Amino acid sequence: MPAANPKSLPVPWPENAEVKIHTGGCHCKKIRYEFEHPDIYAMPIVNCNCSICEDRGYLNVFTPEDKFRFTSGSDADMTKYEFGSCNVGHRFCSTCGTSIGPTVVKRGMVIVNTRTIDGIDLERLKLHKVDGRAM
Ligand SMILES: [Zn+2]
Repeated sequence: MPAANPKSLPVPWPENAEVKIHTGGCHCKKIRYEFEHPDIYAMPIVNCNCSICEDRGYLNVFTPEDKFRFTSGSDADMTKYEFGSCNVGHRFCSTCGTSIGPTVVKRGMVIVNTRTIDGIDLERLKLHKVDGRAM
C-alpha cells in the first residue's frame, strides 16, 4: 500500500508548509518515534468524540506512513486493538499501556496521539472538534 499523500490526509498539510521532525514515545520509553509534520501548534488537531477516541484520549495528527519511524522499539512491542470493519490498528505499549496512535493500513497513514509528543503543551493545541459519533 503506497503511503498517503500529505495533501489527501484527513487534515491536509498546507502548500509549502515547513515540515518539522517531532519526537515522542510511551511512558516507559520502550517505544520512541519520530515523524514529519508541519508545526503541531499551527495545525488543527482532531478532537473526535467517537468511542475509541474518547476512551483513549486521542488528540490526533496525521502523517503518511513513510514519514513515521520508530527510533526505539517497534510495532511488535505494541498491542493492537481492532474493532468493527475499519481496519484501524489502535496501538499501545504492551508494558506501560500508552496509546501512541493507530495505523490506518488501507490508507497508508499513521495517526499520532499528540499527547505522546515530547514536551507537548496541550494548552497551545488548536483543537478541532470532529463528530465521529455521528459518522
Ligand atoms: Zn511503554
